[in-house]
Amino acid sequence: MTSCDHLIVGAGSAGCVLAHRLSADPARRVVLIEAGPADSSPFISMPAGLAQLVNMPGVNWSYQTEPEPGLNGRRLWWPRGKVLGGSSSINAMCYIRGQREDYDGWAGAGCPGWSYEEVLPYFRQSEDQARGADAYHGTGGPLAVSDLRYRNVLSETFLAAGRELGIALNADFNGATQLGLGWYQVTQRDGRRCSAAAGYLKPVRGRPNLSVLTGALATRVVVDGGRAVAVEVRRGRVVERIEAGAVTLAGGAVNSPQLLLLSGIGPAADLEALGIPVVADLPGVGANLQDHLDYCTLVKATQPVTYDFGKLGEAWVGLRYLLTRGGPGSSNIAEAGGFLTTPRARDGRADVQLHFVPAQLDDHGRNRLPGHGYTFHCCVLRPKSRGRLTLASGDPTAAPRIFANYLAEPDDAATLIAGLKLVREIAAARAFDPYRGEELFPGAAVRSDAEFLAAIRAKAETIYHPVGTCRMGQGPDAVVDLRLRVHGVEGLSVVDASVMPTLVSGNTNAPTIMIAERAAEWLDA
Ligand SMILES: Cc1cc2nc3c(=O)[nH]c(=O)nc-3n(C[C@H](O)[C@H](O)[C@H](O)COP(=O)(O)OP(=O)(O)OC[C@H]3O[C@@H](n4cnc5c(N)ncnc54)[C@H](O)[C@@H]3O)c2cc1C
Repeated sequence: MTSCDHLIVGAGSAGCVLAHRLSADPARRVVLIEAGPADSSPFISMPAGLAQLVNMPGVNWSYQTEPEPGLNGRRLWWPRGKVLGGSSSINAMCYIRGQREDYDGWAGAGCPGWSYEEVLPYFRQSEDQARGADAYHGTGGPLAVSDLRYRNVLSETFLAAGRELGIALNADFNGATQLGLGWYQVTQRDGRRCSAAAGYLKPVRGRPNLSVLTGALATRVVVDGGRAVAVEVRRGRVVERIEAGAVTLAGGAVNSPQLLLLSGIGPAADLEALGIPVVADLPGVGANLQDHLDYCTLVKATQPVTYDFGKLGEAWVGLRYLLTRGGPGSSNIAEAGGFLTTPRARDGRADVQLHFVPAQLDDHGRNRLPGHGYTFHCCVLRPKSRGRLTLASGDPTAAPRIFANYLAEPDDAATLIAGLKLVREIAAARAFDPYRGEELFPGAAVRSDAEFLAAIRAKAETIYHPVGTCRMGQGPDAVVDLRLRVHGVEGLSVVDASVMPTLVSGNTNAPTIMIAERAAEWLDA
């Protein structure tokens, strides 16, 4: 494999879409390279297997942030998928697009052409909606979206608690309005995870013009005369150079900026300090980092109805799933949730998102607590804080330095505190009376804003949605133009979550797939 027409780096949510669409032309030779292995683990295809994936280092980059000043100097764990399907192979499968205003905001702030009305057709094109097509949803696309096959009684209780408080039940968070509580739809087909690899890549693996290389780390984009001409790829100890007519980076919000920097594309002073020859001085590479910071309120359960099964119970769940494709094994665990306005929301738009988990979730599920309990995730949908990402060294195998800079803006903390107070109200509703035990985190003693803030600083974590590090736009800080071509370098594009100028109000898999569906048309031209 020494040359191709189009080389794609990264077989994640975006990369699989691009490989599918670009290789549809049999005359185009497409190479897709992926640092991780094939997605053959049964814990990837079985939805509830996600609880096991947190402890599978072979499919995870397992990044860590730098010590976060807003979080008592803690270093947060940032899982990112390193496997065919990328993060869509390890994610929680919640199918959410964000709010109309997110995209209209992009269009109004220097990204014309990206308004909601203009992106909606690409969401619909990607989708195979089990409920059928309507004005918002499509059928026949590669990404299966369906309702859960199994629902825990505590998730029902969560929705009943919301009803008790007068919170509207929303049957479709991706329809006319996002507001309210409801069941998440999930990216699943027939009770199995539909990652981007399962939905987009698997059906086209047999195309003779598509080569997929796993265990292959792109270490540098080679630019000659202002044009990307090749990519250096390391497989084991072998480094090879693959010539390409065009190169697209789809490595995600951490790796795409890292690879640009390794290739000499980024802030000139930073590159010079590391002895990397400057190819293009682009100050925005690695800047504008945004993420959803999340706090888990954890309540002990007085009845053993949760998903805290223990080893024996888990084996039974796995067996039942194998036999029926149903039961708790088909659950994404974060079954219900919703979008609420705190008293701080001035514009009627939801400003916090909840994910309800009928299990005890501490440290991303890596810390298994004894007994039973349930967890309310709460995150701020549109944080104002901005972080950045830089290289630690010129070594392509070294992790980059991530400065997420959570809570740098006081408004983010204030909104999260307001969200946690809403969670308290829901948790206190009568519906939970038969199940409610002690509140473990933050604990009933936490009542004042200062106490909530201290709890957040001590325990908040990422809910896995970093974006913005190769921001699209037109100003000096933009990295890619409105068609996702890297400014100042011919034949090089970035297509993944890193190009979002601002974080959307919700989970980021579907928006990333939409971005790739759009970009594929331009790359195809
Ligand atoms: C634990 C977790 C839970 C989540 N839950 C949800 C959810 O429920 N719903 C939702 O919508 N979103 C969720 N997300 C977020 C969502 O999955 C991501 O935003 C989305 O998958 C990002 O897509 P991407 O294409 O930008 O990057 P990724 O999907 O991460 O893909 C990047 C790919 O590129 C590869 N790669 C990177 N660098 C190189 C290199 N140098 N050489 C070769 N290959 C490389 C990586 O190994 C990876 O496979 C979750 C994410 C995580 C981690």
